[in-house]
Amino acid sequence: MKLVLVSTPIGQLGSGRGGGVELTLSSLIKGLLSLGNSLTVVAPEGSVIPIKSELVKLIEVPGVDQLSWQHQGKNESIVIPYGGVLPRLWDEAIELGKEADAVINFSYDWLPLWLTTKVEPPLFHLISMGGVSLAMKSVISDLSQINHQRLAFHTKRQAADFDLSDDPVIVGNGFDLENYQLQLDSGGPLGWAGRVAPEKGLEDAVEVAVAHRDRLLVWGLIEDPEYALRVESSFSPGVIDWRGFLPTQAFQKELGECRAFLNTPKWNEAYGNVVVEAMACGVPVVAYDRGGPGELIDSGVTGWLVPPDDVDAMKAAITRINEIDRRTCRFWVEKSASQEVFAQRVLTWVQSGI
Ligand code: UDP
Repeated sequence: MKLVLVSTPIGQLGSGRGGGVELTLSSLIKGLLSLGNSLTVVAPEGSVIPIKSELVKLIEVPGVDQLSWQHQGKNESIVIPYGGVLPRLWDEAIELGKEADAVINFSYDWLPLWLTTKVEPPLFHLISMGGVSLAMKSVISDLSQINHQRLAFHTKRQAADFDLSDDPVIVGNGFDLENYQLQLDSGGPLGWAGRVAPEKGLEDAVEVAVAHRDRLLVWGLIEDPEYALRVESSFSPGVIDWRGFLPTQAFQKELGECRAFLNTPKWNEAYGNVVVEAMACGVPVVAYDRGGPGELIDSGVTGWLVPPDDVDAMKAAITRINEIDRRTCRFWVEKSASQEVFAQRVLTWVQSGI
């Protein structure tokens, strides 16, 4: 197929500001190319794509970032800043879409969803968050009533946030498994990764590390520096080992040395890339049974799920981490979340929608 992929209007691809969407798009590009599709990626100026090929073209668009919905109130209005990159991405995408089979949207924004019934090219939307705002919930349910097949979600739990007209299309997510090495040594420290922001619940993971007299290795973009400082100053110095935001190669190498990975979301996490990245390196995950991670971890097999916000249960689960076979974690990712199986699920969705 000839496809146009439209990136998030929050940060350039490669900057980390777009969160998990960046990796999703990057593995999908590689997966779709390996299946022989030809792609045009429309993304904010300064973006980098993971592969050079005659079958993929990058169109860079200048403009001001969109504000992320996850840090706005539920009742907030739809705001597009002056000089915003979002409408400019869609000016390009709609033109390019006239020559393509379909346009796939990766941004969590009102405008592209609303445009779906107004423009000629078939627009598809991979929704990347749960129902964090009423405006988004309503535009997604409206589209589901009119053309449900244009929507796909990462997990069932994410999709359950929305009022949909039919069963949701679930495509999961995908990873380039050549980038992640299985590490079998199970004696390392505890790890945590993600955007450092309140909805990720870092403080709970630090509490678990303190209880086990361990360090907590933390990777990720410090999106909210005040929050990071607050968490750090609530515990003795040295418990958190800030590792920074690393490129995947370096990130997975350090991640794979952990004996367990903690995931402590306070919101309905749509998927949880870092959970699967840890498993790809063979690291068992202990997570709250909430949102995507609750659907990705097979408790007792690839890690342990504990009741949401139950820090004591998480502390106890760490003592049983050696019951998990690290090879099983990697095997789950190979079977369920490679970039090839993900690309195939996305193609099946788009083809049946057309
Ligand atoms: N990540 C990274 N380097 C790091 C830490 C994190 O590239 O040092 C990436 C990670 O690969 C993942 C993203 O940050 O793709 C976080 O995505 P996730 O789905 O876990 O959460 P989101 O930020 O989308 O809420």
